[in-house]
Amino acid sequence: MTVANSIDARDLIVDYPSAAGTVRALECPAFSVEGGSTMAVMGPSGCGKSTLLAVLAGLARPTSGTVSIGGEIISTLPERERVRFRRRLLGMVYQVDNLLSHLTVEENLGLQLAICRNDMNMRQPIAPGVLLERLGLASLSKRFPDQLSGGQRQRVAVARAVIHRPAVIFADEPTGALDAESAHAVIELLVAVHEEMATTLVLVTHDPNMAKRLDRVITLSRPQASSEQRRAG
Ligand code: ADP
Ligand code: MG
Repeated sequence: MTVANSIDARDLIVDYPSAAGTVRALECPAFSVEGGSTMAVMGPSGCGKSTLLAVLAGLARPTSGTVSIGGEIISTLPERERVRFRRRLLGMVYQVDNLLSHLTVEENLGLQLAICRNDMNMRQPIAPGVLLERLGLASLSKRFPDQLSGGQRQRVAVARAVIHRPAVIFADEPTGALDAESAHAVIELLVAVHEEMATTLVLVTHDPNMAKRLDRVITLSRPQASSEQRRAG
């Protein structure tokens, strides 16, 4: 439908230097994600799923290959522009929420808004009260992260990731540390946000049932160089 939040990844490779030589963290065949659709990333531990997400979200640069989001090649953007692009258009949810522990739920969201306000080109963010209400978190707004369950914290992390109306949401095993019921609630929330806001959603998961709910799945395998390294080590 729309192309502004499509993703195009071409032949991504990420190598890290190490004492024992180069470690290949990611080797990923070309793929595209249609704007506004959903994709699951699966594969064994250490195959490069987190590395792929970091590269797609502009947190790291690939050693070779390119990433385009909405037609903009972000993998070669200079650092400052990449940061700006990421803040403006992308949202991230990690396995363990990284909410700031000395700020309440609404203050954590407020901090995210403050970052948005510095950018004139930012879309109009969602009002925190409206968002918390919508996500069923209104009663938790004055609590600190350590006064919440793991599932509640992850729902706040989703709120924080979407408050600036990102074009793409990346979630890296967002339910990996949760019990089945909380995990289900977090995935429902991510899918609901994707549907309401027509965002593209890329989700790393080990759970085939969650992957099945998404439009498509890519499965990574461990890069060759990396498994040789492991045998040698
Ligand atoms: P996954 O998320 O699929 O478990 P990762 O993307 O975290 O895998 O890691 C892929 C591989 O790259 C692993 O072998 C890991 O040890 C290695 N790796 C990840 N980050 C670094 C780094 N900063 N330096 C060196 N090796 C790394
Ligand atoms: Mg990972």
